[in-house]
Amino acid sequence: MENKKEIWTQVLKLIEENTTAISYETWFLTTRVKKIDDTTKAFYLENDEEFVVRILNNRYLKLIEESIKSVTNENYRVVIKTSSDYNNNIEPSDKKESDASKPVLMDNKLKKQKIFNPRYTFDNFVVGNSNRYAHAACLAVAESPSQAFNPLFLYGGSGLGKTHLMNAIGIHLLENNEDLNVLYVSAEMFTNEFIKALGENKNREFKNKYRNVDVLLMDDIQFLEGKDTMQEEFFHTFNSLYDLNKQIVISSDRAPNRLDRLEERLRTRFMWNMVADVQPADYETRIAILLKKAENADIEVDDDIYDVICFIADNVKDNIREMEGAFHRIIGFSSLMGEKIDKYFAKRILNDFIVNQGTSPTPEKIKSVVCRAYNIKVSDMESSKRTSNIAYPRQIAMYLCRELTDYSLPKIGNLFGGRHYTTVLHACDKISEEIKNDMELKENINKLKKDISE
Ligand code: ADP
Ligand code: MG
Repeated sequence: MENKKEIWTQVLKLIEENTTAISYETWFLTTRVKKIDDTTKAFYLENDEEFVVRILNNRYLKLIEESIKSVTNENYRVVIKTSSDYNNNIEPSDKKESDASKPVLMDNKLKKQKIFNPRYTFDNFVVGNSNRYAHAACLAVAESPSQAFNPLFLYGGSGLGKTHLMNAIGIHLLENNEDLNVLYVSAEMFTNEFIKALGENKNREFKNKYRNVDVLLMDDIQFLEGKDTMQEEFFHTFNSLYDLNKQIVISSDRAPNRLDRLEERLRTRFMWNMVADVQPADYETRIAILLKKAENADIEVDDDIYDVICFIADNVKDNIREMEGAFHRIIGFSSLMGEKIDKYFAKRILNDFIVNQGTSPTPEKIKSVVCRAYNIKVSDMESSKRTSNIAYPRQIAMYLCRELTDYSLPKIGNLFGGRHYTTVLHACDKISEEIKNDMELKENINKLKKDISE
């Protein structure tokens, strides 16, 4: 048996998806695994609070059992007690044996849906040029398994939506036919299970399980690279399913012909039918995805949040998971720190997160470019002079410092002859307003930005 903590972590993940955040935190995060007994198939949980134990027993036993089943693929009887009950030696196994052997009755559909992430539906998937083809292929398979494309091979870089699409296929299939035997598994889970089955002399069960499905969704097949025995096992699984006209969907981080350490015969099979790729999403699609995520999280998108979304979409380009992470991080930090969310706040939070933003220009560079454009001296810009031929470029330079660097308002004020931060704020607001109505100014600013970045 794998580490009990690890199993519980996995179980918690499932529970988290199927309860509200508040019940999850209240009832489950404080609950620990006491022991997992593989011979009697009992799963012992403990919590310090009696009432928590009572609530877990009354309301969540079924959910816990189902989640454990989804993770371990085995039926465990769940025993939940307070820590002191365990210590008072009310034996963890004091439940009647008849209880243990009683089959756990579960709503079939519920049980099956538990293996999928409920958020990863087709509805929640934003279609753009980068994934249109893959999306269509997946939907076709979901609507007519074994008829549209078989096998379907899906590939693309990390965080671009492959797992989401595979889940969407599974959820869609079960919604339309709850009796269908749909199995989602990552190549890593497949491998671990195989090794476990070997150790427990359960090869037959393992084979039966995989060769009796109607639809096999195998994620991250690249994990099998260089693992000959597993490839052999998967090869047989693949063939027997394929011969029975069962649907197979495979995902990978690379195209089949680039899976170098995979047997030729497997690679060939992967290319038998449909091979579809997901590419990094373009700017508009990235924005649309973030808007969707905001909607799903019940976040109201006002102008500031929209600005933040554009900022993130502009800076995190190659991985939607990271983009989404950045977004949630900003939202999370803002509520934690009680600060208003805007693009500047976002920039500060993401400063160490955004890897591909390139280095931001120095204020010196900004000042010198602006001074050159307006034909004034840098020392004038830093002086106390207030004539408009100097004050105006100064305001533009302040605005650009705010836009292009991570400097705080007071720090920018210091760079311009020790001005108060409210002066900087005023300059930034003024210029942003003017840009909205003055096309010429907008163009000038863009030109300045370009010069600064060169
Ligand atoms: P992969 O399996 O390719 O590494 P995932 O499917 O895990 O990537 O996707 C990472 C995250 O990005 C998930 O939260 C997923 O919902 C989200 N995501 C990816 N593509 C899209 C999309 N087109 N629409 C909505 N969310 C997406
Ligand atoms: Mg994935």
